[in-house]
Amino acid sequence: MRVLIIGAGAAGLATAIFAARAAPDLEVRCLDGASKIGAKILVSGGSRCNVTNRIVTERDFWGGSQRVVRHVLRAFPADRAAAFFEALGVPLHEEEDGKLFPDTNRSRTVLDALLAEARRLNVSIEAGRRVQSVSREQDGFVVETADGESHNAGVVVLATGGRSLPKTGSDGFGYELGRKLGHGCVDTTPALAPLVLEGDRHAALSGVSHDALLTLRVDGTIATRLEGALLWTHFGVSGPVALNMSRHWHRARLSGQTADVRLSLCPGETFESLENWLLSQERARPKALVSTVLATRIPASLADAWIVASGIDQGTTMAHLAKDDRRRLLHALLDTPLPVADSRGYAYAEVTSGGIPLDEIEPATMQSRVCPGLFLVGEILDVDGRLGGFNFQWAWSSGWIAGHAIAKAARA
Ligand SMILES: Cc1cc2nc3c(=O)[nH]c(=O)nc-3n(C[C@H](O)[C@H](O)[C@H](O)COP(=O)(O)OP(=O)(O)OC[C@H]3O[C@@H](n4cnc5c(N)ncnc54)[C@H](O)[C@@H]3O)c2cc1C
Repeated sequence: MRVLIIGAGAAGLATAIFAARAAPDLEVRCLDGASKIGAKILVSGGSRCNVTNRIVTERDFWGGSQRVVRHVLRAFPADRAAAFFEALGVPLHEEEDGKLFPDTNRSRTVLDALLAEARRLNVSIEAGRRVQSVSREQDGFVVETADGESHNAGVVVLATGGRSLPKTGSDGFGYELGRKLGHGCVDTTPALAPLVLEGDRHAALSGVSHDALLTLRVDGTIATRLEGALLWTHFGVSGPVALNMSRHWHRARLSGQTADVRLSLCPGETFESLENWLLSQERARPKALVSTVLATRIPASLADAWIVASGIDQGTTMAHLAKDDRRRLLHALLDTPLPVADSRGYAYAEVTSGGIPLDEIEPATMQSRVCPGLFLVGEILDVDGRLGGFNFQWAWSSGWIAGHAIAKAARA
């Protein structure tokens, strides 16, 4: 039986390898529209490829049913993914927040290992083969590529990714292919994208990084709270907490709701606890400048900016900080509006939120419920993980399930 995998990114390569391992007689071909295979793997994780995470659960993902995500992750969990790469000669090491990277710290090592394994298994991987149509026929599929060729297949796998970083070849056309085969699509938005801010307050802080708590209010109600490192940039904010927030901001806006993001520079503190700290500092260091005291907790440039924005003279000492000023400053430190205008969009997004609904696939096989013989894996599905190796894990796990299900179907 011939298996045609459309898209040779992380999910497509994983599917090909696991199918060919489980059924060596299968003819497995990957068609990819990009001129070079694996561009997204190469740029991932700052060119170091954050392959997975030490602990991955459904709670690290947003989008479709958590039950389905759990099922898929459990079939091929993170420790098995790490063992899979180790066996391919790519041992991983752990960094902060459980992120696993190749010991070489080069994403090229990960891509080369996957391609070498695919070659060993006689999987054919063809670049420059953009698929423009897939049609279901009586006894299989006909796949047409932009170069005018037509390919028959018993099984087709849609592994075309989402819309993020379209220059790598993932431009969302896979959703159209899915739609023509009967699938729906949850509206997509960028996810894991930096946030563009209105105004110019951020520009002076460019390059400053610190721990932050971001709170998203949707139509006035707290919807999401995320904590982590925030990086100020010339356009707004980036860093893990801003990237993780982007999908929530977009989803709220997509559904026509108001989305207000608020920033706390002192995560874990309440108004009372922070006021107590400030008062204890006043007693201990009455002659110290307020900015000097604040700079023991947050970067000095941020302390200065918040003091000025709170209407307090920069030369104010702790002893001379009036009660009203202190309270205004405390409120600003704990709850400053972050005027998000937009994210930087798909061109800068690491992943896509939305996609083909999870309830349109059979989670035990990743086979389409609406088009038998069609399998869907990776980012094309309505699942997006937070920053930290979770999106690749989704690609490996969904690829593992699809590969084994295809092999089983072929044997049957
Ligand atoms: C800058 C950046 C850094 C990232 N870093 C990390 C990280 O460190 N860790 C992590 O877990 N995740 C990371 N991600 C996310 C991760 O790369 C993706 O979630 C993952 O690559 C998705 O795999 P996929 O195979 O589903 O899709 P993709 O990797 O997007 O692959 C889809 C493939 O399909 C091909 N294709 C599309 N349409 C067609 C068509 N019509 N015909 C033929 N071929 C087609 C494309 O050319 C592409 O090669 C990062 C993403 C970006 C953009």
